[in-house]
Amino acid sequence: MTKRYFRPAVDAMTGYVPGFQPKGADLIKLNTNENPYPPSPAVAEAIRTELDRLRLYPDPTADAAREEVAKLWDVAIDNVIIGNGSDELLTLAIRAFVDAGQTVSFPSPTYSLYEVLVDIQGGVNAPVDFPEDWSLPATLFANGSPLTILSNPNSPTGTMIPPEEVCRLAEGLDGVLLVDEAYVDFAETDCMLLVKQHPNAIVTRTLSKSYSLAGLRFGYAVASKPMIAGLMKIKDSYNVDRLAIAAGAAALADQAHMLANAGKVEATRARLVTELAGLGFETLPTQANFILTRPPEGLTAKDYFDALWERRILIRWLDTPRVRDRVRISIGSNTEIDRLLEETRDILGRDRA
Ligand code: PMP
Repeated sequence: MTKRYFRPAVDAMTGYVPGFQPKGADLIKLNTNENPYPPSPAVAEAIRTELDRLRLYPDPTADAAREEVAKLWDVAIDNVIIGNGSDELLTLAIRAFVDAGQTVSFPSPTYSLYEVLVDIQGGVNAPVDFPEDWSLPATLFANGSPLTILSNPNSPTGTMIPPEEVCRLAEGLDGVLLVDEAYVDFAETDCMLLVKQHPNAIVTRTLSKSYSLAGLRFGYAVASKPMIAGLMKIKDSYNVDRLAIAAGAAALADQAHMLANAGKVEATRARLVTELAGLGFETLPTQANFILTRPPEGLTAKDYFDALWERRILIRWLDTPRVRDRVRISIGSNTEIDRLLEETRDILGRDRA
């Protein structure tokens, strides 16, 4: 028998499979919910200035960026932690609150990284199925998990639980509630107020989507001061690099730029949903920068995905329960979405508009 080097939990798990990141540029990439528009011009300027200081370690607590977050939400910097993407903040939360053998609850289907992080920790996944209408599952309230995670808006559905209900959930739970708001800048509401009212609530955000900085790796969490102090204890000493701190702070300071881009994405989203409805597609109500849609009778989700891929348009098909009859499409630029619609009409064998 071959010798085992890994912890049993690691041997037993499957690693996270990120969305495909193709190398070529000759395609329309609508598979990982990136923003089609450039980030604030202040980002490039901040990076240029910071280049001269790269021989020095970064600020361990990324205070320049924490200050921007604190200003934005009218909280103290001690209510804020910055992460190497919001994925790192999820890792920190699971490491901080979940012992081996303890459960982590979350509505399902959702962002598949949660399960992988729980596996790494040696925890036990306790998914709770979303009801038919994608509302908050009632049984989530009764869970005894030390940590509950809610992606809101949810991925891959794009659906959203109203803040009042999330508030009730925070009140009903014994453990911590982490609300993952990666997509919330494209939504009508958000749960940031929750952290001011509930000491067991953490809200995470990312600059990857609405701020057009997926390549930078910058996320943040807002929570009560004791919660943030605990997470700070277990993070890597220099978890955010100098360029990310400078660029992240600059991007956060330019709210007008982010909001204008989010507005454009929302307008394109509305148009895409309407046009697809005209072609017989059924789309879930979405508050994110993507849609989850079911092709009309006679065209399976997988066949639609393959047909678009042949035409150099990359979307996402997830071979998982509840969603395998649908595809997820990130909202690209108007030109990209026009191409997608044109190819879709072609695939359906209809006349081009
Ligand atoms: N949460 C959800 C629900 C996501 O879909 C993603 C993007 N894959 C993330 C968090 C991670 O974002 P980041 O780029 O900040 O790590």
